[in-house]
Amino acid sequence: MSSPSPAPVPFPSTLLTDLRSAVGESHVLQGGDLGAYERDWRKRWHGRALAVVRPGSTAEVAAVLRACARHGTAVVPQGGNTGLVGGSVPDDSGTQILLNLGRLNRVRAIDAANLTMTVEAGCVLQAAQAAAETAGLLLPLSLAAEGSCTLGGNLSTNAGGTQVLRYGNARELCLGLEVVTPDGEVWDGLSGLRKDNTGYDLRHLYIGSEGTLGVITAAVMRLYPQPAASMTALAACDSVAQCVALLQLAQGRAAASLTGFEVVSDCALSLVRKHFPQIPQPLPPAPWTVLLEVSDAESAEHARTVFEGLLEAALESGVITDAAVATSVAQSRAMWHLRESISMAQAEEGLNIKHDIALPVSRIPAFVASTDAALARAFPGVRLVNFGHLGDGNLHYNVQAPLGASAPAFLAQQEHAVNTLVYDAVQAHGGSISAEHGIGALKREELAQRKSPVALSLMRAIKQALDPDQRMNPGRML
Ligand SMILES: Cc1cc2nc3c(=O)[nH]c(=O)nc-3n(C[C@H](O)[C@H](O)[C@H](O)COP(=O)(O)OP(=O)(O)OC[C@H]3O[C@@H](n4cnc5c(N)ncnc54)[C@H](O)[C@@H]3O)c2cc1C
Repeated sequence: MSSPSPAPVPFPSTLLTDLRSAVGESHVLQGGDLGAYERDWRKRWHGRALAVVRPGSTAEVAAVLRACARHGTAVVPQGGNTGLVGGSVPDDSGTQILLNLGRLNRVRAIDAANLTMTVEAGCVLQAAQAAAETAGLLLPLSLAAEGSCTLGGNLSTNAGGTQVLRYGNARELCLGLEVVTPDGEVWDGLSGLRKDNTGYDLRHLYIGSEGTLGVITAAVMRLYPQPAASMTALAACDSVAQCVALLQLAQGRAAASLTGFEVVSDCALSLVRKHFPQIPQPLPPAPWTVLLEVSDAESAEHARTVFEGLLEAALESGVITDAAVATSVAQSRAMWHLRESISMAQAEEGLNIKHDIALPVSRIPAFVASTDAALARAFPGVRLVNFGHLGDGNLHYNVQAPLGASAPAFLAQQEHAVNTLVYDAVQAHGGSISAEHGIGALKREELAQRKSPVALSLMRAIKQALDPDQRMNPGRML
């Protein structure tokens, strides 16, 4: 956690001139209230930028990076600033340029025959989805922050979301990138090819690199035909083992039509009930609620037959205890809205200790049983706000202060001990400490301790080769 210091840092005047001539005076913000840019979504990190620079084209990004290279100035790229690991805000030195990509937001092209769209990095995900839909196609990247997060941020974090089960994460959906290097050179890799074995695939170096290697300015994203119909339901389960059994049943019956499988513990839903009582919860409280979605390419009739057969089989075999099927698009949206309100409800409840973890699906019941018990023993009264993308083996296994305790004090006093307990358990079960949010500032130390030395030294070699002056998002990830 950083605390802002008021002492102003002198601005190298030639840098200011260079930045203004790169993007125009009105797009170099300094002094005044830059709080919205300098504070992260969780309100956990608050840095101080030398200036916020808002380029409107790839050429302007390149000019900004050339100016920063000449002055040896560090650059922090920022998209929608919805990242949850403290990677998109500057540190508190007051010496870093915050490069906000929000103005670089055009959909450059949609190629229906190639099933691709070319989108600039600052385009908000929801706007890109809408553009694909207008062309009768589907951009199947979807997450609760989609009204604010950007394609550049999604690719830089290799975002996951709710449809990874069927379509893969941001990496799988990206067929090409345009990137500006730390020295201001532009790499145009916007080929949109599905096959291209001409050496190292640079695209995969930049995807998931969290702004530490260069600036993504545009991408070619894969599109899909719109499904003919979707069916959504909520189902109640007595245990996480039953949720896993339901997943197996659903995969067996719906195969590739299964597009959503989210689990939510009752503790998570209880926070939504508390902070957003106006959001309907169609099922009575149960230990676990699953949100299932089947999207069918064939017909609404086929989707309904598959879906109803699946739910009947689950009820008959006792895998689920109750279910509510959405009978309209509005009801389906309401179910997704309920699921997507958890992060906001948790934010309302106060700071918490977040764990975005991945495990082999088969290990999840044992992990949850033993880790829940160990946390309850070590931190009596602690609340486990557990939810996530079970179909991908991804849990948001978040630890909230005991009821009535101060959330900031709990975070300050117990974060290290809670993390050690949880991440040791994750490692013992063959999992990952970051499934989809990335490393940022939050997990940098954990990464250094837990990633294999060989992997770390290869990562450092890549960083050294692509950003030898260590000016791109310093102090993040590595
Ligand atoms: C309510 C809520 C729900 C969420 N749900 C999910 C979810 O289901 N799945 C998921 O994966 N994440 C989720 N997130 C996290 C977040 O939305 C994602 O990480 C998202 O991809 C970040 O996009 P952004 O544009 O906000 O990036 P930012 O937060 O601005 O930046 C994230 C990182 O990418 C870098 N970066 C941003 N743009 C660029 C660029 N153009 N070039 C180079 N580097 C860049 C930044 O430096 C930073 O390190 C959620 C967040 C919230 C608040």
